[in-house]
Amino acid sequence: MNIRILGGAHEIGGNCVELESGGARLLLDLGRPLSAAPDDDVPLPPVAGLDTGDDPDLLGIVISHGHLDHYGLLERAHPDVPVFMGEAAARILAEAAFFLRNPLVPRPTGFLQDGVPLDISPFRVTPWLVDHSAFDAYALEVEAGGQRLFYTGDLRGHGRKASLFQRLLVKPPRDIDVLLAEATNVRDSDAPPTPIWTEEVIEQRFVEAFRATSGLALVAFSVQNIDRLVTLYRAARRADRELVVDLYAATVARATGHANIPQPPGVGPSFDHYRVFVPLHQRLRVKEQEEFDRVNWIRDVRLFPKELAANPNRFVMLFRGSMICDLRHLAKLPGPGLAGARAWWSLWKGYLEQPAGLRLRTDLDGLGIPLDVIHTSGHASVEDLRRLAQAINAREVIYLHTEHPDAAKGIAVNPRD
Ligand SMILES: [Zn+2]
Ligand SMILES: [Zn+2]
Repeated sequence: MNIRILGGAHEIGGNCVELESGGARLLLDLGRPLSAAPDDDVPLPPVAGLDTGDDPDLLGIVISHGHLDHYGLLERAHPDVPVFMGEAAARILAEAAFFLRNPLVPRPTGFLQDGVPLDISPFRVTPWLVDHSAFDAYALEVEAGGQRLFYTGDLRGHGRKASLFQRLLVKPPRDIDVLLAEATNVRDSDAPPTPIWTEEVIEQRFVEAFRATSGLALVAFSVQNIDRLVTLYRAARRADRELVVDLYAATVARATGHANIPQPPGVGPSFDHYRVFVPLHQRLRVKEQEEFDRVNWIRDVRLFPKELAANPNRFVMLFRGSMICDLRHLAKLPGPGLAGARAWWSLWKGYLEQPAGLRLRTDLDGLGIPLDVIHTSGHASVEDLRRLAQAINAREVIYLHTEHPDAAKGIAVNPRD
């Protein structure tokens, strides 16, 4: 089996790996580099048949998870090239489309399932469900021509599904020739390592923050980070508040298809301390598109601005930059409104330095709402990467999804050498 790394070798994201065995080829991920701006024209990697769909040797693209840096160039691939990904991951992206400006909805021909081998002959792909900040994320074990490769995709060992990482350490895939591992959190050797908190620690920090807040608690987080949704739901309850999400977050939670993820009544048991707020821009979109069912199903848990403004200290509310006009409206309603409100950024800190983040900070300043950061990485710590490499004990280890590939080489001191 030959391996060509076409993206992600020297940067975080933009992953694309081409595997070749006996002339047949298979791609693992087809990501858009995170360094590319939304309007940048990013060409497809040089893979025969990817843009034409007429090369029978190109058997398909296996997408590890629904983050753009792993599937974002799919829109440029020819639709005749088969795509494989997690079923829930695909459903989430399809449901999210209504809420996004430039949605990209993959149309998979086959689905990944934990531990169920997929025969894409001569490749045999066994997906391993992993702990990551994207729901339904997989590492991929690939066997072809008597050789075996393990591609981690993105993973971590400190999220709400940490047991999946433990499983990899205790019962690792066997006889792996090449380990292709992510190394997002590797820094230059002289830089201090970033502390990595578990989701439990993040939960506790939120509980304390919410308890110490006299007004509305606002949290910016990615609605597709289901681990964080669960963390915030638990923290809100422990602080005796209700979690208020927007229509987008409620829709994505339902799309997981898991009844134990906090969501409006319908799929599974109803969750107490859970409400849905429909921001102005979502109300307009529902009206324009005449998709009124999108609000009908949440009516039992819907929260209107009046109630929010009257008792803001009863709620923890999801917010993002596009909801600033909703916050300004709250301040004008009867009641405490935004008095004593505080906000937390629960996403990668770097976004706050980008134009949209800077604008958000200015807007919150204007409303007198202080902003702090409570967040943890969706990627494994260097120590966990080392433990993983030792457990898998591959003949060769290649790190990608990193800005420091040279420093990453030091992670795995290969016991076979
Ligand atoms: Zn990634
Ligand atoms: Zn990811």
